[in-house]
Amino acid sequence: MNKKTSIKKSESQKAKKERAREIVSILEEEYPKARCHLDYESALELLIGCILSAQCTDKMVNTVTPGLFEKYPTAAHFSRADRLELEDEIHSCGFFRAKAKSIIGCATALAEDHDGVVPKTMDELTKLAGVGRKTANVVLGNYYGVPGIIVDTHIKRLSNRLNLTQNSDPTKIEFDLHKLIPEEKWTFFSNSLGDHGRTVCFARKPKCDDCAVSHLCPSAGKV
Ligand code: SF4
Repeated sequence: MNKKTSIKKSESQKAKKERAREIVSILEEEYPKARCHLDYESALELLIGCILSAQCTDKMVNTVTPGLFEKYPTAAHFSRADRLELEDEIHSCGFFRAKAKSIIGCATALAEDHDGVVPKTMDELTKLAGVGRKTANVVLGNYYGVPGIIVDTHIKRLSNRLNLTQNSDPTKIEFDLHKLIPEEKWTFFSNSLGDHGRTVCFARKPKCDDCAVSHLCPSAGKV
């Protein structure tokens, strides 16, 4: 049985910060191995996997990428890809025309402007085709060890349910969470909250009775 919630309606920022830290500490116990679920062996592979994962499951992306990375081992290879062929190869990930265009555009910029190396800064990453703050934070946090809040569909839903933000805009959510979560935990928090969203706090019918943070959640039993 979960502990009773004691969250005040008019919660101060200080109290919210303490609650957020408690949530992080419970997530550390619940999901000690939380990680990005895309399969990758390099920053380039993670970057391409992220571009493919928009509106698609990581599981589906992971079925497509092994063949893709064998055929196109470097940014230069991707930059020279035949667009129609690439579209066909990534067809099962959805939005294949837009994604093929982004991958070729992104790889061309990497090959021409970055010696084929995926950059390590938000500014440089978000200048690449098909790369927004979410993808940049995935690469920075999971590959380069630069902490980042990754606002995907799970973080968006759960951070609102937990009342850690009241925003729906991903960038605003990211900055709201920056103020509440210790910086060194940003990537872990993102990955573990994603795991919680996949296994307990479903979009429809979340399992509040089985939720380890229900006593810290104002939405417990109300969704
Ligand atoms: S108590 Fe329910 S709504 Fe809140 S985080 Fe847990 S599963 Fe989600």
